[in-house]
Amino acid sequence: MGQQETSFPVRVAVCGCCGRMGSEVSKALLKRQDLQLVAGIDIKEQGRDIGEVLVGQSANALIYDRIEEAVAAASPQVVVDFTHPSVVVENVKTCLRLKVSPVVGTTGWTEEKVREVDALAKEQGVPMVIAPNFAIGAVLMMKFAVEASRYFDRIEIIELHHDGKVDAPSGTALRTAELIHKGRNRAIAPPKVSHPEVLLDGALGGDFQGIRIHSIRLPGLVAHQEVLLGMPGQVLTIRHDALSREAFVPGVLLAIEKVLHLPPGVTFGLENLL
Ligand code: NAD
Repeated sequence: MGQQETSFPVRVAVCGCCGRMGSEVSKALLKRQDLQLVAGIDIKEQGRDIGEVLVGQSANALIYDRIEEAVAAASPQVVVDFTHPSVVVENVKTCLRLKVSPVVGTTGWTEEKVREVDALAKEQGVPMVIAPNFAIGAVLMMKFAVEASRYFDRIEIIELHHDGKVDAPSGTALRTAELIHKGRNRAIAPPKVSHPEVLLDGALGGDFQGIRIHSIRLPGLVAHQEVLLGMPGQVLTIRHDALSREAFVPGVLLAIEKVLHLPPGVTFGLENLL
């Protein structure tokens, strides 16, 4: 357990509370007795009551524009982050220095950045969670893909998201490729392309250790992924569809419940909390 004391209810702030994910998580927190939404943090709607902004009813919790202000005013034990890949590392470091546990859904993490915040979290004695995908179905898709990948030589991933998503490929696609790479006892066979002249840059997708990843961005989509595993004469497709952002909320709430009981440092991936 970290240095932090768990008290009841757990005091939570949501960074990015006015965004697509942050608002869903904040609304879910407003319905919970055991988890208390004590502040929002966003670059919009500062100074307003988060309940008034999200559900038209006061929650006695204000929106601040900086994590430091929210922590000083409302003493959260956990800060949930659904902001932007360009700011998330600084947000997490600020939380850790203030000895508040981050639960992070924002994507765009590299192994190097995870190592950096893991070292700071351990130094500060603070437990934290990063999950590229908080949907249980997506975690199972990754698990089944790793299992199946042991029997196939060629694997490609297609991930499809709404056109507001800023990073590509998705954190889930990268995590899936990383888990497949680590979970196999042999390398992925190099792709055999009979016509190697690529007529359009990027037509064959990005390459992660021999696994090609293709990103599609379209209005109307939420978050979807297919893992295609091929061998002569057959293809296995494992697909997950998040049809609304509700899909991610139970996983985020589970991480909030569990984070203060984890050892200091980064716990990476929802699968490690189930
Ligand atoms: P969004 O653009 O709808 O919301 C982001 C919010 O963060 C906005 O309200 C914005 O004003 C606020 N913000 C930006 N910079 C900030 C800062 N410095 N401080 C405070 N607030 C700031 O984005 P979204 O669709 O909610 O996605 C957010 C992130 O979550 C993305 O990286 C996305 O890929 C990721 N995501 C992860 C999961 C998961 O399961 N892990 C699921 C969905 C989305």
